[in-house]
Formats: sequence, structure tokens, C-alpha cells
Amino acid sequence: MNPVIALVGRPNVGKSTLFNRLTKTRDALVADFPGLTRDRKYGTGKVGGKPYTVIDTGGISGDEEGIDLMMAGQSLAAIDEADIVLFMVDARAGLNMADEAIANHLRVNQKKTWLVVNKTDGMDEEIGKSDFWTLGLGDPRAIAAEHGRNVTTLLEEVLSPY
Ligand code: GDP
Ligand code: MG
Repeated sequence: MNPVIALVGRPNVGKSTLFNRLTKTRDALVADFPGLTRDRKYGTGKVGGKPYTVIDTGGISGDEEGIDLMMAGQSLAAIDEADIVLFMVDARAGLNMADEAIANHLRVNQKKTWLVVNKTDGMDEEIGKSDFWTLGLGDPRAIAAEHGRNVTTLLEEVLSPY
């Protein structure tokens, strides 16, 4: 089975934009995947000849009461289903309390997690990443999902063990 990549993060960080780029569609076909639910969107793609499945956790509205509820449901389910978690944050918005709460969960989870700083187009990558080292999830990776900056390189690296 393809390695499964879950896109996790608070609303508006660019998860769906990255999903669409990784699946090269605006509304991916739903992949044939066990335990499929309507609230998570599944797609497939390929980089360097390696196929992958990607999950967009589009249904976190941000209106949930507290982090437990926000992380409950589909976000946790997507993390469970994934081999790799791309935890996305927003370079323009900077560090946010919701980011910290999600990071706390991911740090104790056993899944391989990459900290992905999106929206670094038109800004120095080091400055874009600087807020996020404190999350304790290793080296932040700067991308711009909308423009494709560093996206292929990141995916190749993420998939290198597969
Ligand atoms: P989601 O809620 O995490 O799925 O976020 P979306 O993918 O819906 O994106 C939220 C907003 O951020 C949209 O207006 C996107 O156009 C914008 N956005 C996404 N990626 C980028 C990026 O790389 N650069 C910039 N400047 N904006 C982006
Ligand atoms: Mg979305």
C-alpha cells in the first residue's frame, strides 16, 4: 500500500492548497481507502516515481471548544491512518496558540512528523521559519503551497524511506 501522508494544522494554513497541488486537482477523486469517512478528503499522487496517498483534514472549523475537541474526530483519525504527518503552520500569521496545542499532541504521537511552514513566498525562508523552532518538532521546512516553492523537494525527502 502507498505511504499515507496526513495534512494537519489549524484552519487557513494552506492544507487544502497543498492537497490540491500534491494531487494535481482542485477536488481529488476519493481514493479507495479502508475506513473512509466523508469528512476527510483522500487523494493520490506521485513524486520521483513513488506513489503516495494524501489526506486533507478539511473539516476542522476552528470553532470547536478547546484543543481536545479540535483534535478529536477527523484530525486524530487522519493521524492514526497516516505513516507521515505534515504539520502545517503559517509563516505570515506567525506562531499561534492552536499551533502549540497541536504540536503538544504530535510530540507524544509516534508518527513521523514534519513541521512545514507555508506561505513563505516573497519572504526570507529563515525569517519565515524563525517563530516555529520553539514547537520542538525539529527543523521547520519552508514551502509555499500556492506557488510550489520547495514542495517537490520536501515530498522527495519525506518519501525517501519508502
Ligand atoms: P486550509 O484551511 O488549511 O485548508 O487552507 P487553504 O488551503 O484553504 O488556504 C487558506 C488561504 O491561504 C487561501 O486564501 C490560500 O490561497 C492561501 N494560501 C495557501 N497557500 C499559500 C501560499 O503558499 N502562499 C500564500 N501567500 N497564500 C497561500
Ligand atoms: Mg482546507
